[in-house]
Amino acid sequence: MYSDLIEKYKKIQPSQNAVRILTERYFIKTPAGEFIEKSWHDVAHRVARVVASAELINNPALENLSKSEKLDYIKLLEKEFFDLLASRIFIPNSPTLFNSGMGVDYELLYKPLEQMELDDYSKIIQMRNHLHMLSACFVVPVEDSIDGIFTAVKEYALITKAGGGIGSNFSSLRPNGSFVAGTHGKASGPISFMHVFNSAVSVVEQGYRRRGALMGILNIDHPDIMDFISAKKGNDGEKVLRFFNISVGIPMRREELLRIYERDGTIRLNHSKWHGEKEIKVREIIQKMAQSAWETGDPGMVFLGEMNRYYALYPHKEIISTNPCGEIGLGAYEACNLGSIDLAKLYTQNGVDWDALEKATRIAVRFLDNVIDVNVFPIDKISKAVKESRRLGLGIMGFADLLYKMDIPYDSEEARRLAKNIMAFMALHSHEESSKLGEEKGNFPLFEQSRYHTEDDFVPFSMDESDYDEEIFEHFRNVAPKFKRNVAVLAIAPTGSISNIADTSSGLEPNFLLAYVRYVNKQNSDEREPLFYVNEVLKQKLPEDLINSIKDKLVEDGTLKHLEIDEEIKRVFVVSHDIKPIDHLLMQEAFQCYVDNNISKTINLPNSATVDDVVEVYIEALKHKIRGLTIYRDGSLQTQVLTSTKSLKT
Ligand code: UDP
Repeated sequence: MYSDLIEKYKKIQPSQNAVRILTERYFIKTPAGEFIEKSWHDVAHRVARVVASAELINNPALENLSKSEKLDYIKLLEKEFFDLLASRIFIPNSPTLFNSGMGVDYELLYKPLEQMELDDYSKIIQMRNHLHMLSACFVVPVEDSIDGIFTAVKEYALITKAGGGIGSNFSSLRPNGSFVAGTHGKASGPISFMHVFNSAVSVVEQGYRRRGALMGILNIDHPDIMDFISAKKGNDGEKVLRFFNISVGIPMRREELLRIYERDGTIRLNHSKWHGEKEIKVREIIQKMAQSAWETGDPGMVFLGEMNRYYALYPHKEIISTNPCGEIGLGAYEACNLGSIDLAKLYTQNGVDWDALEKATRIAVRFLDNVIDVNVFPIDKISKAVKESRRLGLGIMGFADLLYKMDIPYDSEEARRLAKNIMAFMALHSHEESSKLGEEKGNFPLFEQSRYHTEDDFVPFSMDESDYDEEIFEHFRNVAPKFKRNVAVLAIAPTGSISNIADTSSGLEPNFLLAYVRYVNKQNSDEREPLFYVNEVLKQKLPEDLINSIKDKLVEDGTLKHLEIDEEIKRVFVVSHDIKPIDHLLMQEAFQCYVDNNISKTINLPNSATVDDVVEVYIEALKHKIRGLTIYRDGSLQTQVLTSTKSLKT
């Protein structure tokens, strides 16, 4: 039951690792450096209060209530948000944790709930300052002029400072060597300008708590595409375009690119300011991408055509880029806030507690929708774009740990069936909640132009087979054409930090290692220090003396693969590198089929994989219903965040 799980997990203290991370980056301090927050519950109080206060701005139904009824309503909601956050069953993205309450008097943020008055909530709304920025994902357009480029550089600096990650599609910039009328000179091309963005972000940290994160995309038909693919060559994680992930944008449908590849066809390079003529074989492009990704992990691929295919506002609006980790595709000046439910905490002896998952999903949607209204964006154009479509990114974390608890191997049909059912269930209930909010508070302003309203059978998912398909179709047939508060609702983020706060596995990823050393940046310095970790579920499933006897080898290898223990246990407790690339892809597809935004997933390859193996993954990717691809060959980048002691030594 939901309330039982909430009570259980509210009492469980975050681990030492989690507290360490919270203390370093999340707990609020006075300007003199004194901690105001000392526990996760303090953070949960602050965030729940601020997000509940949004009801004063976005809930027209409140107008009909008396003052005391309004107050009761908001307090009830704050309590509901607090319980969910305090249990760590749901955690919003880091900027919401960092910045909720910025500018507000501390006294108002931590006052006991019983003493809160309606005026206190109003004051919270009024006192938010320019740092009250709660979203993780942004896309900034870059215009093909010096003015346009440097406007975007400034916008990058402002968004980074506020704590957001930014993506741009640089295809608008004319290619290297093309004519510049203003100077009678030659353009230096998108890649050279990306270095300017990289430098700008290098000197602006995200709210002093973490480094910036950027995504640079160039479409496959841009004349500079071959140089772009190797733009991070020589990258050791520190030097070349350090803040950028780079990806090749695929504006056409996935199947179309596959067809060109299969018949050994070409792409005609194209830019309105370019007079050259050139066609390149797709096979040549794919080969070069594979070579480069084999060396450095970059570039990835983003299937923009696929994203627009399921985008409710397309073609009225267009997705042009993704955020840095790829889970959200956005149009110009759009932003999105994320939050994730820890599936591992929803496990009971009978399997997944579906009622609890439904309740958590519904409260999380309401929470994320409120975040939009208490958000303060550094640029007006962003504020406007966000409020027009009210995009949300609710996702999951803890999937790998859930599978461990249920004795299901990640690379199995059973795991994929569970993934589809969980995601389809969340898709159904999150969209029902979004429609309910639409009825209660108003649809998103562009709703009438959206395909929810204008098309008979529009569903924002590619769909597969799950237990909830009929209900999903029914929802989009009967309810969504009338009510929808959010253009899109779901996304699966990496949850790089929040999964550590939740003491769970990240996103939909398998565990990287069962025992490992995690290097964490010390505050205000580039120095890193090690935190040791052994998977909690493994600790619960194996006797302590057995764990102790294998600990050294486990920390060295990260996997059980080479240990002499029960084969059944080994089969269940697989880690990333035990899983074949195709099984990674199939899991990405299983989830993506019921997610309207995208998914952040890395397809891990062993160090011994060849460039041809990478090509094979690309071709497989084009055959599956996914919206992007990131591959990573173990050991190809020296500064990976997680590392087994073995890979540290090499
Ligand atoms: N992000 C960022 N800087 C970082 C990590 C993440 O700007 O150092 C942004 C980026 O857009 C990424 C998104 O936050 O895609 C979500 O990342 P993640 O889930 O790892 O963030 P968390 O909420 O766990 O900190």
